[in-house]
Amino acid sequence: MSRISQISVGALKVTALRDGELSLPAEVLMNLSDEQSQQITSDENNELSTSNVNAYLIQTESQNLLIDTGCRDLFGPTCGFVKDALREAGLGPENITDIFFTHLHPDHVAGAINADGAAVFENASFKLIDLEYNFWTSDDFTDAEVNGNDWASLARSALKAYEDRVETIAFGNDIIPGVTSVSIPGHTPGHSGFRVDDGNESLMQMGDILHVPNLQLDNPNISTVFDVDPEAALKSRKELLDMVSTDKLLCTSGHMINPKFGYIEKSGASYVMAK
Ligand SMILES: [Zn+2]
Repeated sequence: MSRISQISVGALKVTALRDGELSLPAEVLMNLSDEQSQQITSDENNELSTSNVNAYLIQTESQNLLIDTGCRDLFGPTCGFVKDALREAGLGPENITDIFFTHLHPDHVAGAINADGAAVFENASFKLIDLEYNFWTSDDFTDAEVNGNDWASLARSALKAYEDRVETIAFGNDIIPGVTSVSIPGHTPGHSGFRVDDGNESLMQMGDILHVPNLQLDNPNISTVFDVDPEAALKSRKELLDMVSTDKLLCTSGHMINPKFGYIEKSGASYVMAK
C-alpha cells in the first residue's frame, strides 16, 4: 500500500509521508467513556484508537523541506518507514535540504538519527522553534516515562548530530518561503504547526492536536498523557478546530489517518471530516 499522499498548494508540492500506524492503549487516553475504554482494551485492532505517524515533504523549485522524521524503530515494527515513503516520492535522504520539527517528541525526531546517533539527512538544516530548543536542552527533567530524561536525551542526541546545522526560528516566521510556523501551545512549549500559502491556496498543518482522530474529532475533550501542559493543549485543540472549520481551511495533522488532507466541519460540540 502506498505510503504517500500528494497535493499542490499553488506552486508548492506537499506530500504526506506515512511513517507508520499504531493503536494507542486506553491507559494513555484521558476522558474516555467506560464503553470506549472497554472497546479499546478488549480489541487491539479497534478503529477508535488507531493512529498514523505522518511526516511531510514540501517541495519548491529549489528546496526539499522535510517536516518531522518519524519514529525509527522505537514504536515497534509497524512504524519507521519515512525513508521508504520518501523514496516513493522520488527522493533519497541526501536530497532533503531542510528539516523542520513540529516538536521534539520521539515519534517526530527519532528518524533524524540512526541507532548510533549519526545524522540520517546529511545535507539538511535542522530547524525548530526557539522555545522548543530551550525546553529540551534545559536540565529540568525527571525520570518520568513521558516528557522525562529519556525523551530529552533523544532530542539532545538529534541536536548533537546536526549541531553545526541547527537553526532556531521564532513563532510566526517563515520556515522556508511560503511555509510559516504556527504556535500551538500546550503539547510541548514550542509545539508548532505550519501553514503553506501560495497564490490563493492554503494548507494548515495542525501539529499534534489530534493523536487519535476518530475519538478526538467526535469528542475534543479526549486528551493524551503526552501533553506537557494539558490544559493549554486542550484549549489549542478546540481553538484550532474552530478556526479551520470557520475559515474552511484545507488541513492535515501529524497523526491524521485518512484522508490525509481534508476539510473539517463543526457539528454541535463535535467535528467531522467533510465528505
Ligand atoms: Zn506525535
